[in-house]
Amino acid sequence: MDMDMTRIHTFHSPTRLVFGVNAAQQVGAEVKALGGTTALIVTDPGIEQAGLLTVVADSLTAAGITFQVFKEVEPNPTDATCAKGLAAYRAAEANAVVAIGGGSAMDAAKGIGLLATFGGRIQDFEGPGKVPGPIVPLVAVPTTCGTGSEVTHVSVITDPARSWKMSLASAHLAPRTAVIDPLLYTKLPGHIIAATGMDALTHAIESYTNRWAEPFADALDIEAIRMLGANIRPAVANANLEAMTNMALAATMAGMAFTNTILGIVHAMSHPITCYYGVPHGIANAILLPTVMEFNLIGAPHRFARIAAALGEPVEGLSVMEAARRAVEAVRELNDDLGIPPDFSDTPFSDEIIEKMADDAMKSRNIQINPRRVTRAQIVELFRQVGQFEYDDDDDDDD
Ligand code: NAD
Repeated sequence: MDMDMTRIHTFHSPTRLVFGVNAAQQVGAEVKALGGTTALIVTDPGIEQAGLLTVVADSLTAAGITFQVFKEVEPNPTDATCAKGLAAYRAAEANAVVAIGGGSAMDAAKGIGLLATFGGRIQDFEGPGKVPGPIVPLVAVPTTCGTGSEVTHVSVITDPARSWKMSLASAHLAPRTAVIDPLLYTKLPGHIIAATGMDALTHAIESYTNRWAEPFADALDIEAIRMLGANIRPAVANANLEAMTNMALAATMAGMAFTNTILGIVHAMSHPITCYYGVPHGIANAILLPTVMEFNLIGAPHRFARIAAALGEPVEGLSVMEAARRAVEAVRELNDDLGIPPDFSDTPFSDEIIEKMADDAMKSRNIQINPRRVTRAQIVELFRQVGQFEYDDDDDDDD
């Protein structure tokens, strides 16, 4: 199956893209063009410490836009953070939101813009298609090369009461404008580039191989895979401007694709791992990716073979399955080169939590579109493969 011919596919990418070195200096003009006069900047403390707020603040001032800063966003932001951000938005009497940061800041900004427009609680909008109409103007300035949230129709907000990452999905949540400035990425620490870059690669691979894959997304996905494969090592090593430009563009391209095609069981499984064991999103995806690819190979062998070629593997003369297997090995080698652990032995999974994580994973809509049909028992087995280890008590024996 190269494309589901029985399905009517849609491709929707409503976000205006502004990109290039120093593009962040345009943020004020972009907010103004959307009718904003007072903005709430949504960000996190790490962005301020990295000195990235100034360029956006200066640009707003230059465009005559007043603003307040809400910088309380935490990794994997919660419903409570969105409620606090809403209070800040109201106190500032804002009429636009500017997000600067990674997926956490951008997703929180989407949640704040949503509540500012329609009131209620984040939980009221959980799932696909629950947002009734456009939200207040939102300009997103990504600073990690990973989530693609600057163009996706998705906001991922954690509900700690349920140990659950809610996905809110609606084209109304897509930022009106994304401003992608490669200069903002050059101060990223290597371990964050590794985690977020592997998150982007996971997006592109899951989107390219799942049952909703279609040609518009394919073009973006395969190019994103090629660009990420060629640039992620130098990006992690020294964050040079050329590598970071390619990483930033590839992450956005993957975001444009997967927001239309959705993902697969890496994401179904990684969200509960983050909730129960606190593993960062990108790292959880990166560790799961090769094991899940191996499981999924028979669901889309030609597509995995093309992924191997895009990752630079020498596939000429190989059978389709041999080439497809090279894709798995290429991702394992990539993780190894980037210092990403091969499994979850730092946070081994208990039987009890595996059962809970399997229940949560099965609720994800990513299950339905995974290239290979998957049962709950198989999900449990995959969690065991990556997160449970038998230690040999006889190590000290003489024999
Ligand atoms: P993040 O936003 O949580 O940021 C991680 C850390 O990196 C923070 O401490 C931040 O301060 C720091 N940081 C960010 N940019 C920096 C820079 N340029 N220089 C120095 N430090 C910097 O990480 P993330 O991986 O971008 O986002 C993860 C979140 O995004 C998760 O909640 C995940 O579920 C969500 N997500 C959303 C989508 C979507 O489509 N909305 C897609 C995938 C993931």
